[in-house]
Amino acid sequence: MATVVQAQRLEKTYRAGDVDVLAVRGVDFAIDAGAFVAFVGPSGSGKTTLLNMIGCLDKPSAGTLRVLDTDIATLDRSAAADFRGANLGFIFQDFNLIPVLTAYENIEYPLLMVQDWPADKRRARVTELLAAVGMADQAGKRPDQLSGGQKQRVAVARALATQPKLVLADEPTANLDHATAYHILELMKKMRDEFGTTFIFSTHDPKIMGEAEVTFTLEDGRLVNIGGARA
Ligand code: ADP
Ligand code: MG
Repeated sequence: MATVVQAQRLEKTYRAGDVDVLAVRGVDFAIDAGAFVAFVGPSGSGKTTLLNMIGCLDKPSAGTLRVLDTDIATLDRSAAADFRGANLGFIFQDFNLIPVLTAYENIEYPLLMVQDWPADKRRARVTELLAAVGMADQAGKRPDQLSGGQKQRVAVARALATQPKLVLADEPTANLDHATAYHILELMKKMRDEFGTTFIFSTHDPKIMGEAEVTFTLEDGRLVNIGGARA
């Protein structure tokens, strides 16, 4: 099975005033293509820092991080943006939908602005994704007309629009009640099954982490446990 993310002695240090904050302290892990993986741990344990590095939004201070066979330290800002646009999808805790656009238009947005898809292919892709996430009958609604769970369904569809190899979701269920959170993770898993996309999410909620097939537990920037079978 192909490895999509590989970290070796990966470190991230932030400079905050006069002090160094060791956010990630030498972690090693590998994630296989098609895996459904969670980084778990309390607030401040380094989950966002790790996801930001995997998402090429931040660079390692030491060690190596390969994402889809690219050493991300070698990418400058513009190459990192191109890499993200071509390969990655993102789902956020607070949904980050564009308020003036409908559900349909939010999903279409990356196909217009990130990758320049022709109109007929765009329409087919958005329609397919609206159906896949169970939102076909809500296509014309704006985010303020949707529940939190519905907004996150749209965000999952938008993250998948450009057919990324890897979707990153930083605490995607933190603003949802437990039942809705569970349904969103089930939906993400269904999308993994349907499209073969690797999903990596983070959570500090022990009730939710059981939904992952592989869990990487962080504590104070260190990887303290790897749970579940490698997919
Ligand atoms: P989590 O997502 O698990 O809550 P983070 O990755 O956000 O953890 O943070 C890990 C550690 O790094 C924390 O101590 C946090 O305060 C620190 N940190 C995160 N981002 C920055 C930053 N930009 N500057 C300084 N310290 C940071
Ligand atoms: Mg975080």
